[in-house]
Amino acid sequence: MRLENQVWESKYHEAVERLTREEAQWRTAESLLRQLVACLGHIAHGAHDQVDPHIERLSVALAGPMEPLALEPLVNELATAISALGERSAGNHEDRSIAITRPHRNEHGSSVQSSLSRLVERIVVLPRLADRANELRHDVADAGDLVALAACGDRLADLVNEQRIGLQREIDALQAVLRHVTNRLDEMSGYMSRELADQSVGEANGQALDASVAHEMRLLGEAALEIDDIHELREQVNHSLETIAFCFRDFRDRESARLTAYRERAEKMRQRIEQLETERNTLQRSLEREHELAQTDTMIGMPNRLAYEKRIEAAFENWRTDGKPLGIAAIDIDHFKSINDTYGHTAGDAVLRIIGQALMKHVRPCDFVARYGGEEFIVIFEGAEEAEALQVCERLRGKIQHLAFHASRQPVRVTASIGLAYFQAGDTPQAVFNRADLALYTAKNGGRNRCVMG
Ligand code: GH3
Ligand code: MG
Ligand code: MG
Repeated sequence: MRLENQVWESKYHEAVERLTREEAQWRTAESLLRQLVACLGHIAHGAHDQVDPHIERLSVALAGPMEPLALEPLVNELATAISALGERSAGNHEDRSIAITRPHRNEHGSSVQSSLSRLVERIVVLPRLADRANELRHDVADAGDLVALAACGDRLADLVNEQRIGLQREIDALQAVLRHVTNRLDEMSGYMSRELADQSVGEANGQALDASVAHEMRLLGEAALEIDDIHELREQVNHSLETIAFCFRDFRDRESARLTAYRERAEKMRQRIEQLETERNTLQRSLEREHELAQTDTMIGMPNRLAYEKRIEAAFENWRTDGKPLGIAAIDIDHFKSINDTYGHTAGDAVLRIIGQALMKHVRPCDFVARYGGEEFIVIFEGAEEAEALQVCERLRGKIQHLAFHASRQPVRVTASIGLAYFQAGDTPQAVFNRADLALYTAKNGGRNRCVMG
């Protein structure tokens, strides 16, 4: 007999598989980053027209949602372009010296800088890495030249590597528990087989008793036919009764020993099951805590991009079954770079914190708001009609505009632009997100501080 707890096992297997998938994605991201850094290193020695379009394409891709696998061909293209450049220069001495001594071009630097800045913003970091990611984000913004940027890229790759190691640790912990549970289940299976064997011992004991009693009764019956003397007969009856009584005592003793051993084993088993339950509960709590932390933006204390992704997937499933309206609003702070440039990153962080908290306060309880990354936020409207959601967006925009920020006692004006898009037949979350993003850029081009329906 095999005792199984399939819900348990399959749940853990699922978690391990999911984490392994995530870990593989981060591994790809890390190796791409290392490649990117190598590229930056090359470029740092001198810009070249041949690599411009590749860097441009990479910048555009990084401006979209971060998808390590989609970046792969772009980074590869860039690497090929740079090595082709190297080969050409190696064949031509003069050309090579020109490339090295040529001054860095500004548009090159700023393009790489904004790509890297995007990457740092977009990356989902484990909460314990948040401070380092933040520091890095500031250093990228402050990097004066491509050599400094390449160093930042290297640090970003290290962060991604640590994130990957963190996930690996979680996988290991889950696998250890899985092994542990499997061992315990095996123990229980062993116990059940012993129990069954014991039960058959009990049955055999009972049958032996039956046989002994029947045998004694048959002897007594035969003796009764042969014996005429009543005294002799009484002796024989007494003797038979004693033999039967002995058989019963023997049976009782054996059964009671068996029962004691059974109770001891059952008690041990009960304790083990109890211990297993406690371990399971502790692990479940710590995993729940981990997951909650992993979905929180620690700088602001609000849901992060990972939380958004999980929420939109669930909302999308609901939309597919019940068809109730579903929309996404992308919010981007206007000219935020100039706030950083004028008042410093720490002040910029404080502004983001206040805006994030204001958004959480002013969306309705049925709406979901998260920090998507950098100075971008996102709201999911589930079950709200478009006009209603647009009204909420207008309200949020107004609240941001009227938040009171001051620097050196002077009021600082902060505004945001918002793009809203709704799910329509055949849509995917990514397609709607892209439409919201497009509407956001229409709002920016239209003069900022406004909401646009995509
Ligand atoms: P636009 O109106 O077009 O949105 O202009 P913008 O300046 O807001 O846009 P851009 O994307 O050029 O700059 C966003 C800036 O936000 C750049 C980046 O350094 C900054 N940023 C991103 N995350 C953080 C953060 O956590 N803290 C601070 N202080 N700045 C951040
Ligand atoms: Mg932005
Ligand atoms: Mg902005």
